[in-house]
Amino acid sequence: MFLGELQQPVNRLKGIGPNHHKSLSAMGILTVGQLMAHFPMRYEDHQTRRSILEAAGVDAVNTVMTVVGRDSFYWKGKQTLKLFVEDGTAKGTLLCYHRNFLGNKYPDGAQIFLHGHFQYKFGEWSCADFEFEPVSASPEVFGKILPVYPLGGSLNQNVLRKAAAQALREYTPGIRDELPPSIIEKYGFHDKLTALKAIHLPSSPSDYLAARRLFIYEELFHLQTAVGRNALKERNILRQKTGETRRDMELELRKRLPFKLTADQNKVLDDICADLETGRPMNRLIQGDVGSGKTLVAFIAALNVIRTGRQAALMAPTELLARQHAESAARLLEPLGLKIAYLSGNTKGEGRRHLLDQLKTGNIDFVIGTHALFSADVEYLDLGLAVIDEQHRFGVAQRQALAEKGSCVDLLYMTATPIPRTLAMTAFGDLDVSSIKTMPAGRKPIETHLAREGNEQKVYDFVRRELDAGRQAYFVYPLIEQSEKSNLKDAENMYAHLQKVFPERNLALIHSRISDDEKQERMEGFSSGSVDILVATSVVEVGVDVPNATVMVIEHAERFGLSALHQLRGRVGRSDLQSYAFLIYSNKLTDEGKQRLKVMMENTDGFVIAEEDLKLRGPGEIAGVRQSGYMKFRIADMIRDSEVLMEARADVLDLLEKDPALTSPENEVLRELWEKAPPFSETLVRSG
Ligand code: ADP
Ligand code: MG
Repeated sequence: MFLGELQQPVNRLKGIGPNHHKSLSAMGILTVGQLMAHFPMRYEDHQTRRSILEAAGVDAVNTVMTVVGRDSFYWKGKQTLKLFVEDGTAKGTLLCYHRNFLGNKYPDGAQIFLHGHFQYKFGEWSCADFEFEPVSASPEVFGKILPVYPLGGSLNQNVLRKAAAQALREYTPGIRDELPPSIIEKYGFHDKLTALKAIHLPSSPSDYLAARRLFIYEELFHLQTAVGRNALKERNILRQKTGETRRDMELELRKRLPFKLTADQNKVLDDICADLETGRPMNRLIQGDVGSGKTLVAFIAALNVIRTGRQAALMAPTELLARQHAESAARLLEPLGLKIAYLSGNTKGEGRRHLLDQLKTGNIDFVIGTHALFSADVEYLDLGLAVIDEQHRFGVAQRQALAEKGSCVDLLYMTATPIPRTLAMTAFGDLDVSSIKTMPAGRKPIETHLAREGNEQKVYDFVRRELDAGRQAYFVYPLIEQSEKSNLKDAENMYAHLQKVFPERNLALIHSRISDDEKQERMEGFSSGSVDILVATSVVEVGVDVPNATVMVIEHAERFGLSALHQLRGRVGRSDLQSYAFLIYSNKLTDEGKQRLKVMMENTDGFVIAEEDLKLRGPGEIAGVRQSGYMKFRIADMIRDSEVLMEARADVLDLLEKDPALTSPENEVLRELWEKAPPFSETLVRSG
């Protein structure tokens, strides 16, 4: 019997009435097996013997105390009991808030097992936070290590401890290991039953530490097995594409560009073309800082796929960005004879019908749009390549939905938000990563300046000089309109204000509540240079590309997260013109806000900024991983346990290489496990 086969409903256990049953269900714990896999998050040590002096106000006391006297004091108008106790090393005082009944229960001379935290205050050792029981031969708690479980609803630790103990006694004997014997031997793991007992009812810390080691490894091993088998399937069985690419027209395109591709762009393109030529679908991520020229690489990849007679799609997270991509694609690729189309949720009526028809019959080569690209009514004649820009803004399911619009679709992801290698491997299966590290030649580092609220005038004067020199500027605000709750500046009011500051200039306002057509028109105005100043919210954060804009002014900069600040700043410095960013901050600055601004002043490298961001926010927040659902591990943590992950991965690759179908007797346990009680669902680990 595998743990996952213990399907008995959890309310068979004593103490699980309707309320607790409901609370457990809400946490996804329906069966005894699932309860056994609900692991403690930490332990309470009632075991290590410590006197008051040994604990020294730092650790918990675990000792036998004798009651030696009593007194009372007033607390919130109530007489409250104090018990004086002694443990042979020191005297202590127990402050019995709400527990006056202890006075009768424990006369002077009584002995108790006591667990608590003593502090030295007002010349004595006192303790208000304690647990105790009468001294006896078989104490309930004293001398034990107690598990502390994650709780929910009506649950408390006692209920879960008792239920787990009963389950261990009555249900788990005979439970099977879930790893091949060679692996268990290699790492000296306990058998599964011993490990379950050790994690729920440890008799010492070394017990539960060893058990945790097994369960963490096991979880990562199974994940890697799923990922690995999936990759094998995709490579060998399900997916066999023709693996063609034609780079003839690429040369034509290169000739038309006013610049040369950087060495890194060339390298990434070669990686991509090599992927396109193999028989298995590409699954590649391009990481590259904002402005490093990822889009162009994707366009060339699309061109090469289209030349083999297939179609390409590019999905971007916002309409603004999708339109901009569609326009530059049209500029670059239409002269080469390609048919480009733009599709969003707002493409409706006859226009949409016509477009969908053209896609279906293959008259459109390259479609660029938002998540509308994978709507149910969208059909492709033969989708060969799907490019997903700013991939972290999409969930796994969305990326998958696009990929499923064709057979053997090559997938190309682009991101300016770097993903740690271990995460990329685990969360995306066998994702290959290419990086564009160098910026196009001639780019000058952006000069970043801080300005305190109240000193805007100087910034405005600077902006005026840049405008006079023929440049353009962005002004970005945290809010769209005035909010009663805050006195933050907002884009609408500042648009009116800035019109007075720059009366001779053309200004335009964009934010998410402006209609798409309007947004589009204003954006075009800015691109073509007829608008000098774009006043905006963070809608301009991703991807907007206007090389003549050289000033980015962000007011209330402390309100923006690091990745947003970096993306916003990346809107300038997109040509060989010197560019500037002004971060205007308010007087009410939190420590974290201050820290973020400091990071922005000191760094320009997006990878470094992302790492700083990670430090400030913690790994759980890494873009694209949290919402993907891949982080829902029982016990493992991809960051903390990254070394175990690498070990498990190496073990799994080795194993699958020798025995891809898991048919050897040694691996029988795995084959049966995946048949009878799969540790991860198939869909959870679809790569991409
Ligand atoms: P990303 O998507 O990586 O942020 P883009 O693809 O939007 O960057 O490129 C930024 C700008 O740089 C665009 O205007 C693009 O035309 C230009 N560009 C791309 N590659 C080069 C290059 N090799 N040399 C000069 N400019 C380039
Ligand atoms: Mg981009």
